[in-house]
Amino acid sequence: FVTKFEEVVVECSGSKFCVATSAGTTGLHVALEAIGVSRNDLVILPSFTFIASANAIAYCGASPWLFDVSEESWTLDPAMLARHLASETEQKGEELIHKPTGKKVAAIMPVYTLGMPANMDEIVKIAKDYNLPIVADGAAALGATYKNNPSGKLGADLTVYSFNGNKVVTAGGGGAVVGTNKNLLRLVRHLSTTAKVGEDYHHDKIGFNYRMTNIAAAVGCAQLERLVEFVDKKRIIQET
Ligand SMILES: *Cc1c(COP(=O)(O)O)cnc(C)c1O
Repeated sequence: FVTKFEEVVVECSGSKFCVATSAGTTGLHVALEAIGVSRNDLVILPSFTFIASANAIAYCGASPWLFDVSEESWTLDPAMLARHLASETEQKGEELIHKPTGKKVAAIMPVYTLGMPANMDEIVKIAKDYNLPIVADGAAALGATYKNNPSGKLGADLTVYSFNGNKVVTAGGGGAVVGTNKNLLRLVRHLSTTAKVGEDYHHDKIGFNYRMTNIAAAVGCAQLERLVEFVDKKRIIQET
């Protein structure tokens, strides 16, 4: 069922490739590892989120560089992001350095707060200006749209969903990483399946055992049939 689950998530997210994981948290961790976040780096993160986003950054040995959210959207404030990147960072060769700490800024992690996508047009533009990859924490945002685009198609390099029991749709527990770069998603799969090469228990990296179980995927497949119904209900709640 895992392969089937991944195919359905690709469809619902509007992305191209999907790797199912054991949780949203482990999906975030492996996504950051795959994008190249390493020890002592900084990852830009809105301060208003669930602890898992910051934990995943810490698992890489990196630290969150916290930014406030905008009052209207409760998501990462692009104006504040642009302002502080301009005043507090400098380019040194290939690396963007945070001047006050001397640390490398390695990625931006916007959070789609309570399922509502961040202002991605602005954030993607800023990310391009500074050549920063984006790993979006879309934990509760499967089925959501931004300017008519599904949440996995908003310009992030990787978008991570959670299928925990308190999200829009559940697999009992689980997560998923989606993206359009085949090689990057191949690396996510490799890292989340113990970085095993061939059939002889050779491993070429320190990998993780982050795969979704087949049982969770089966529950997820059944529940995903109701995604539209769940999102419709959430929209009604939001409007009333
Ligand atoms: C739920 C959630 C996570 C973590 O997902 P788990 O599947 O519980 O590990 C991460 N980020 C946000 C914003 C969440 O809401």
